[in-house]
Amino acid sequence: MSTDDKRETILDESNKNSFDVNEIRNLFPILDLHVHDKPLVYLDSAATTQKPFSVIRALERYYEQLNSNVHRAIYTLGEEATAAFEETREKVRQFINAEKTSEIIYVKGTTDGVNLVASTFGESVVNSGDNVIITQMEHHSNMVPWQMLCKRKNAEIKYIPVDEKGDLVLDGLEDMINERTRMLSLVHVSNTLGTINPIKKIIEIAHSRGVPVMIDAAQSVPHLKIDVVDLDCDFLTFSGHKVYGPTGIGILYGKEKFLEMMPPYQFGGEMIIEVKFSGPKFNELPYKFEAGTPNIADAVAFKPAIELVEQIGYKNIADHENSLLSFATEMMEGIDGIRIIGNSDNKAAVMSFVIEGAHPYDMGTLLDQMGIAVRTGFHCTQPLLEEVYGLPGTVRASFGIYNTIDEVNYLIDCVKRARNMLV
Ligand code: PLP
Repeated sequence: MSTDDKRETILDESNKNSFDVNEIRNLFPILDLHVHDKPLVYLDSAATTQKPFSVIRALERYYEQLNSNVHRAIYTLGEEATAAFEETREKVRQFINAEKTSEIIYVKGTTDGVNLVASTFGESVVNSGDNVIITQMEHHSNMVPWQMLCKRKNAEIKYIPVDEKGDLVLDGLEDMINERTRMLSLVHVSNTLGTINPIKKIIEIAHSRGVPVMIDAAQSVPHLKIDVVDLDCDFLTFSGHKVYGPTGIGILYGKEKFLEMMPPYQFGGEMIIEVKFSGPKFNELPYKFEAGTPNIADAVAFKPAIELVEQIGYKNIADHENSLLSFATEMMEGIDGIRIIGNSDNKAAVMSFVIEGAHPYDMGTLLDQMGIAVRTGFHCTQPLLEEVYGLPGTVRASFGIYNTIDEVNYLIDCVKRARNMLV
């Protein structure tokens, strides 16, 4: 067994559900990198997480040993590729506790999932004079598709407000929903504020008025257990790359009754059962929404990412990341002129901050020189930061399973140094 293979399998059955951050770091080759001659301190997992060896090897193995097209070959290789592709679908079904694999649709990522629903379900149910509700804290991916749909349909888009602390103001929700409301779509965990929204309660309120709900779970799946049956959400979408999997693969979950009534998103091979010159007959779920050759390799390599999360366990993940977040918050609050944006009592793994008298971009550039990768700017939530908080952006540090208290200490030290240079 090579060293690399050992690192791929270091979490064996004997230490299942244990949490040793150094052991976990060993699974991620990129964490050995140096940037500007400093060890890389990667604090941008909300943008994309790093990939464990098991995912990297699965990609390699796929192209070395399995590559062929799915659902169309009668030869062995094609059947094996199809089996591996469908195994991940079943894995995802279990992971989010969906009832059927027909409710699990492969998409490119969260953006693609929202666009699919807005362009098919939204297109079918929203008409002139109707309204769609989202929140002020949505990522552009869960805002622009609904804005464009409403514009196209001459419908209204309404925003659930966000308060100073970073929580949704839900007092007015019952009044906001009326008989012309066709959809409510909202983020589970804000990528900018870190707020964990009370989606179960919101879904209950919307359902009591007959309104279907879509959840953007891009930032929750890496940190929180998702159970679509318990939540009773109608649609839910997330990206593989934010949960230690490859880029270019994501999941859209939809309740079968809605997916059945929706028109296909795109047309072509795979999504048809037969075609005549007079027209096509569409395939059954989930293939009706998977036109063309899918992203087979990344779907196959997504499975070990989910297995890693399951192996570590959400309790260990939350305990570890919460301790990083509370330590970072406490230390950051002690630095003069630093203000944390997003102070909800219910937060996950994201710390956004601004520096009095300095632009976030300058802080980010200095931190990069010190080896620290943080995100600066609007984080694809421009209306939230500009129009609600009146800010030109924030610096955002976000944590994953591989980050350490030492890294947080180093961040705090570097923020202090950078602030002294800038202010
Ligand atoms: N929604 C949220 C809350 C996000 O944080 C992101 C990515 O940052 C997205 C949607 C879009 O995800 P993707 O770019 O993978 O489609």
